[in-house]
Amino acid sequence: MRMALYDVAPELNVSSALLPGILDGIYCLETNTILIDRRITYTRKRCTLVHELVHWRHGDDTTSGCMGGKMERRCRRETAILLIDPAEYALAERMYDGDPYQMAAELNVTVQIIEDYRALLYEHVR
Ligand SMILES: [Zn+2]
Repeated sequence: MRMALYDVAPELNVSSALLPGILDGIYCLETNTILIDRRITYTRKRCTLVHELVHWRHGDDTTSGCMGGKMERRCRRETAILLIDPAEYALAERMYDGDPYQMAAELNVTVQIIEDYRALLYEHVR
């Protein structure tokens, strides 16, 4: 992961840290650094890293945390698309009768990602 990242963005710094409060990750625009909380599970780290990479790509500073709003909605939507394979999602949905917790475990993502992806699917249906 680190090597692949270095190829994509050699000037971007990614480190783990002890982040305050409930923050899982931040992206600091000024220092071009992503920090991921070191206490969270591997799955959450993976999802947080992709989330912060999307912020990085858009130049969104999240030093004070992800506060919601339009920028955060865009980021969550793009993160879900990057982390979920549509065929795997469809299979997991059938296998687990749409239960987001079991689907999250199967797809190696957080429940939040499942919910964001699901919201996206309904958006397309409408
Ligand atoms: Zn965010």
